[in-house]
Amino acid sequence: MHTCVILTGAGISAESGLQTFRGQGGLWEGSRVEEVATPQAWAQDPARVLRFYNQRRDQVRAARPNAAHRALAEFQQIAEVRIITQNVDDLHERAGSTQVLHLHGEIRRARSTSNPAFTVDLGEKDIALGDLCPHGSQLRPDIVWFGEAVPAIHEAVHWCALADVFIVVGTSLAVYPAASLIDCFPPEIPAFCINPDAAPSNLGSEFTYIQATAVEGLPRLLNHLAQNFQERPHEHFDCF
Ligand code: NAD
Repeated sequence: MHTCVILTGAGISAESGLQTFRGQGGLWEGSRVEEVATPQAWAQDPARVLRFYNQRRDQVRAARPNAAHRALAEFQQIAEVRIITQNVDDLHERAGSTQVLHLHGEIRRARSTSNPAFTVDLGEKDIALGDLCPHGSQLRPDIVWFGEAVPAIHEAVHWCALADVFIVVGTSLAVYPAASLIDCFPPEIPAFCINPDAAPSNLGSEFTYIQATAVEGLPRLLNHLAQNFQERPHEHFDCF
């Protein structure tokens, strides 16, 4: 079975109604990133940070996976699908994808402020000031904020090395180290990038650029790949 590695960003969830990050004058849902998504913001005003993420969590719960999320889940019948996502939503999992690596954490989980290894699924709950882990420390969103380390990047680099096909969907490739993953797949394999806007400036010429939204472009590309895999199941392929 071929291994397809997909790097996704906020754009793949845009057609599910979740705003991307850099849409509106550098604001994320009306807030400046420094005021809601950094360790400094948490130190200065944790109530504001919790309010911001509680609202985002409500939006994610109300959103539904779109045709791009579903196409990736269905593609598991055809290939081994490994999704590396910058998204904190759970729309890949709710569509049925089973191998999803969250580089920047998961909004549905909370984490202890004293022990990063302690995380908990929030279910239908929010996080409030005074909600504590079993050792008595405040809970925070299980999100990697700007300026924090990205522990999952090592596993992501390993996944990239396993790829027979590499696809980038819905990311501006502006957030590092996530963006550096476009340099980590084997050089001889086919690589695709889907985005409705102009190609990100750091995207290499080895990528076939598909200017389309995720919902338009991804099911089409995956159909194309499926045909190719069926016609030449045991071969490496290098062009489309
Ligand atoms: P970004 O906002 O920087 O870039 C989004 C990209 O998606 C842009 O290049 C845009 O052209 C493209 N896009 C817009 N509509 C699209 C569509 N319909 N189909 C395909 N592409 C589309 O997002 P990023 O690169 O993922 O970085 C943002 C950071 O913010 C991430 O770290 C992420 O954790 C966080 N974030 C997550 C969510 C989410 O979980 N849904 C939402 C907003 C921000």
